[in-house]
Formats: sequence, structure tokens, C-alpha cells
Amino acid sequence: MTQDRHHSSHLFDDARILLNEVLDELDTSEDVRQRLLQPNLSLQVGVHVRMDDGSLKVFPGWRTQYDTSLGPAKGGIRFHPSVDQQEVGTLSFWMAVKCAVLGLPYGGGKGGVQVDPKALSSLELERLSRGYLRAIADVIGPDRDIPAPDMNTNATIMGWMSDEYDAIQRDQIPAALTGKPIALGGSLGRVAATGRGALQVLDLWAERNERKPEDTTIAVQGFGNAAYHFARLAHQRGYRIVAISDSKGAIHHPEGLDPDPIKEEKTRNQRLKGMVYCENSVCEHKGAKTIEQEELLALDVDVLALGALENQIHVDNVESVRAGLLLEIANGPVTREADEALAKRNVPVLPDVLANAGGVVVSYYEWIQNRSGEYWEEDSVNQRLAERMTREAQRVMERAETRNIPYRRAAYLLGLERISEAILARGQCHRCE
Ligand code: GLU
Repeated sequence: MTQDRHHSSHLFDDARILLNEVLDELDTSEDVRQRLLQPNLSLQVGVHVRMDDGSLKVFPGWRTQYDTSLGPAKGGIRFHPSVDQQEVGTLSFWMAVKCAVLGLPYGGGKGGVQVDPKALSSLELERLSRGYLRAIADVIGPDRDIPAPDMNTNATIMGWMSDEYDAIQRDQIPAALTGKPIALGGSLGRVAATGRGALQVLDLWAERNERKPEDTTIAVQGFGNAAYHFARLAHQRGYRIVAISDSKGAIHHPEGLDPDPIKEEKTRNQRLKGMVYCENSVCEHKGAKTIEQEELLALDVDVLALGALENQIHVDNVESVRAGLLLEIANGPVTREADEALAKRNVPVLPDVLANAGGVVVSYYEWIQNRSGEYWEEDSVNQRLAERMTREAQRVMERAETRNIPYRRAAYLLGLERISEAILARGQCHRCE
């Protein structure tokens, strides 16, 4: 079991089970099920990289467009040693649901390269990024598929990819990618958007449950872009961040931690070396007790915010979870079995397809700005993000509460209803009543 859960084929099987259950409940046309059981397109590429030592390495990469009934595919690109076709496929399905839950005119997309980016030099990373973009250039574009950052990719990498795309097209096409540097048409507010959106969803939940930020403790798993900004903004808002972990370790401080100095220490080396990735760990922070990463997941806190990887809460550790609420900042951090166990114990989970959608919402705003040529102030971006997140989160929470179903189920019902309407509007079964 412990080994199995790392196999990404499980991810897709689990996603399919949930999809089938929700479609049964929606009682929609069989056309919809047929369309949604597999991706529209899954492209596998070899990414050629000339290494600094002169040798050539070819890394496997993928780009998947799951369903594009609502609009062009949208979703990030991840660089990670364990990425494979199944994982990218599942992530693209989740993107399709996420975009629909937030009412965005997009289908689901995702890309990935199987590589350990932290083992590359900056120049090798740039060549990898440009090489991947060249390999998928035929299937992307502002009206086809719009990539963005995901795990281990960022604005710098999107800048290289955008430059490469423009060179291939011999034109300026900023709307082909989002999450770009501001100087290349990126949107103000995009970097912090995933964390900000997650906080807005948590705030709404807290408000509906009459819970004050100052009385709410949070443990945060992960300290990448989404989790860091979430922790920073939640701390500002008055929530008590009592534990933080990253890929190297975890720290705990029952009085509460300020994420900013931790981030500064973590990135100090990075700035000195001019590297794209951080070398330090949250563990270098003085004044807090170091704990095992697994211990963080079992802390007695009000909120466990999962902002690292998929499959973090699973059958083998779900029983030890003591948090009152789980907030999914990463994609897929809770397995299907663990999700069911939590539901039985009445522990609510604010699901990824809602809670981490802030990033793609601001990507949508970036795409609109690129296409109109008019750029918005940061306050205006943040305000639009807050309005949309709150409106759709409210819809999900109301549906869950009136029907007495988990938030994930309610979010999937809402998203799949919207996708299904678009599928049927494109042409319906002729022999169905
Ligand atoms: N990678 C992010 C996600 O999983 C953002 C995708 C986007 O901005 O298109 O939602």
C-alpha cells in the first residue's frame, strides 16, 4: 500500500471513481461521461538539453488537454523527477474541474517534465524550459492551450518560454502563457494569487462557522510559492501559524510563527548564488522546535493546510490527523480513501479545485489583460479575485450544507454541471429522449 500510493495510475483511477459517482448523481447524458473519461490529447515529447559538460540529455515530457468544451485548455507545467503521463493526465482533469468551479471559460490542461530541476544549473534549466516549449509549441496558443507555472516552475521560466514561443511564431503573443514576469505582460498579483485565494476560501468558511482568525491555529505543509503566500497572508490576517514544513524538514512553535523571516532565511543562499531554486530549509530558522514532517500532519490544530504534493494524507496516516479542517492548497494532497475516512469522522476538507484556484483565476485576468492590451492595478486584480473566489466558494459551501455532502462533492457537482452544459450545447445524442 505504502508503495502503491506513489503510483500515479492510482491518482487517475481515483479521479475516475469520483467522476463517475458525480456524473451518476447529475444524471446527465451518457455523451458527457464518454467525453470525460479520457483526455482529448496527451502528447509525449523528448526534451533535448545540451548540458554544461557538453553532453546531451533527453528528458521525457508531456502536455495533456483534458476537456476543452468550456474553452482552451489551461494549466501549469511542473518539473519534477516523479512526473509521468498518468500524473499529468490526472492533474489536467482536476484543472478542467477547477476552471469550471470558478466559472472560467477554460478547459483543463497540464504539462510536466520528468527531471530533477534542482540538479540543473541555471543555464541548463533555461535550455530545458525552452526545449520543452519548442516540443509542445504546435499544440498551445491563446485559443488552444495556455500553460502557466506549477511545481518548480515560476515567472522566470515562463519568461523564457514566452520568449521562445514568440521566436517560433515570429510575433508577440503574450496571451499564450500566463504567470509571466510583469515586464513581459504578467499580471500584478499573480505570484501571490494561489495563497490569497486559499485564504479567501478559509476566511469565508471561518465566517460561516463563527470562528475568529486569532482563535484559529494553522499548520502549513509546504513552503513553495502557494503555501508561503498563504502563510504570510494568513499571519497578516491574524491567524496563528504554529507549524511550517518544506521538503527538508518542519518546525513547530505553539505561540505562532511569522513566515516572512523564515522565508528570508530560506532564500538567503539563493540570492547569493543567483540560483533559481532555494537551497536552504525552513529548519534553519532559530527560535522554533524542529519536528518530523510527518508529525506536522498529526498536530492538534484547527486547520491543516496542505501545500506540498499530492497523496500526503492517505490510508496509513489519516487516522492520526487531528486537525478540525483540511485546506488543500496543493493539488490532490488527500487520497480518495483518506477523504472518505475524514468524511466519516465529519472532518471537513476544503478541496483543491476550489481552495487553490486563485492562481488560475489571476491567470485568466492576465490573459484578458494581454488580449485587451490594458493593464490593471494590483488592487483591482485582488478585488476581482476576492469577488470571484468568495462568490463561487459561497455557492459550493451552500450546496454542501443544504445537501449535507462534503465540499469536494459539492464543488464537483457544480463544476461538472457547467462542463456538461457546454458539452451538450456542442451537440447532443440523437437517440436520447
Ligand atoms: N498550476 C496552477 C494550478 O494548478 C495554476 C494554473 C494556471 O494558472 O493556469 O492551478
